[in-house]
Amino acid sequence: MDNMDRIFFNGQIVTVDPQYPEVSAVAVKNGIVMAVGSDEEVKALAGPATDMVDLKGAFMCPGLIDSHMHLLLLSNKLRRTDVGVAKTFAECMDIMAKAAEEKKGTGAWAMGIGFNQDDWSDCKEVPTRLDLDKACGDVPAYMERACGHIATLNTKAMELMGMMNEKEGESSYKLRYFEDGTPNGVLCEDTVRLVEEYFPIPTVPEMKELILMGARYIAAKGLVGVHSDDLNLVVPVKDMPVILQAYKELSEADELPIRVHQQCRMLNLPMIEKFCSEYKVRTKWGKNFTIGDIKIMGDGSLGAHTAVLRGEYKNAPEDHGIPLHDDEELYAMFRVAHNAGYPIVVHVIGDGAMDQVVNGYELVMNENPKANMRHGIIHVQIMDEAQQDRFVKLNLLAYAQPVFVRYDSQIVDDCVGSELAKTSYNWRRFLDLGVHTSGGSDCPVEDCDPLANIYYAVTRMGMDGKPWYPENGVTMEEALRMFTIEGAYSAFEEAERGSITIGKYADFTVLDKNIMKNPPEELLNTKVLMTVVNGRTVYEG
Ligand SMILES: [Zn+2]
Repeated sequence: MDNMDRIFFNGQIVTVDPQYPEVSAVAVKNGIVMAVGSDEEVKALAGPATDMVDLKGAFMCPGLIDSHMHLLLLSNKLRRTDVGVAKTFAECMDIMAKAAEEKKGTGAWAMGIGFNQDDWSDCKEVPTRLDLDKACGDVPAYMERACGHIATLNTKAMELMGMMNEKEGESSYKLRYFEDGTPNGVLCEDTVRLVEEYFPIPTVPEMKELILMGARYIAAKGLVGVHSDDLNLVVPVKDMPVILQAYKELSEADELPIRVHQQCRMLNLPMIEKFCSEYKVRTKWGKNFTIGDIKIMGDGSLGAHTAVLRGEYKNAPEDHGIPLHDDEELYAMFRVAHNAGYPIVVHVIGDGAMDQVVNGYELVMNENPKANMRHGIIHVQIMDEAQQDRFVKLNLLAYAQPVFVRYDSQIVDDCVGSELAKTSYNWRRFLDLGVHTSGGSDCPVEDCDPLANIYYAVTRMGMDGKPWYPENGVTMEEALRMFTIEGAYSAFEEAERGSITIGKYADFTVLDKNIMKNPPEELLNTKVLMTVVNGRTVYEG
């Protein structure tokens, strides 16, 4: 055994494997962990060609996993101009003017993303097309609000979109208007997405570039793998084959730096029938890409009052939320996926939507009992204890986004009342019940920073500086498990990754501080030094 490819030594290594919880060295061959132990034991396995990696006392843990995000939406954000950094309206317009200058004469659009007029000191209004005309002239310009539900186009872009002649009350688009009745350039809700559809679908090579842009960013955050929900999201239907082909080519050429477990978003029954007949569950392309689950949307969001509640919104009694499928349709969709052997994951925010989805799971599981399906619920936000108990009974997985408490802590009590808020986002109780609970960021809704996510899982800190029902938080050890072994479990890969164990893939995250020994606050000042996937360094900080 003296022909190891790499030996990592002189580290503070937490393995998340109870057989040998803490070691200082790990040996790797062909992308697999071959030995763990003390420096002395492991260094003895070095041969002349072994790459010796001195961790210099740094902290290493199993590669971190984000169990729900949108890699391609992240890429889309990264390739645009970040206007979220602007502190004023004037600064925002300056950034857009520069972006337009670069695009001048090319036919390309100036695309800004992330503005929030609430953050500006000089103006609190959503800019109009006339504002963007001043900054960008006749270079087509688009600027999306941080929430993704509002965007402003300049006059040139409005003309290209064919929206300048729309009239208030007659238009099928969700637009805002000036007093003279002309569109003011502001697009709302689903109309924002039409801009994406205006552009041609990327080719496979372009799609590969886009995927790599997001994947490199993710690796730099210390993540070795993500569960990514990319299909039928931006340009419905048409882009799916291109996305899958791009992932396939990247992974088979061993060019995909991180692991991607695809949460395959399906919009309706025919789409699921077609997908399940064409793709076999857990098909693996190359080392790093897997066809994972069937992903379905159950409801909307709390902020927009589209999350489905059993009762009413306490702060808007006329609102109950909007279910995206009726019971029958949801059941039919579940049935096809379940019978095809696909784990199902559903986006659920409200307790009403949770009832609907869990009832659907129960129906298909009673009808066709199968052990170990690992159906799950993404977000697991508004719920009571009886609903949590049903997870145990049906063996359901919880996919939590701890980082959401930062903002949601400010609105949940108002939306659903404190009695229900107290039992909501309750990961503590899930763990006590033995429910498999993994952690994710829903990036780009939140940044895919696993260290910040772990911080919120433990501290439950709100953006007002106050912990929100901190008794529902978890320990550091538990949070680390949520972002390692539980992420692997939710991909049916707990035997292959998720801990530093002999025989598993050599996926590691190296940090400049020992997060298990420091107070949680230090997580926010901890740097990623190295991300290792299949024994290979894919990021070095
Ligand atoms: Zn999502």
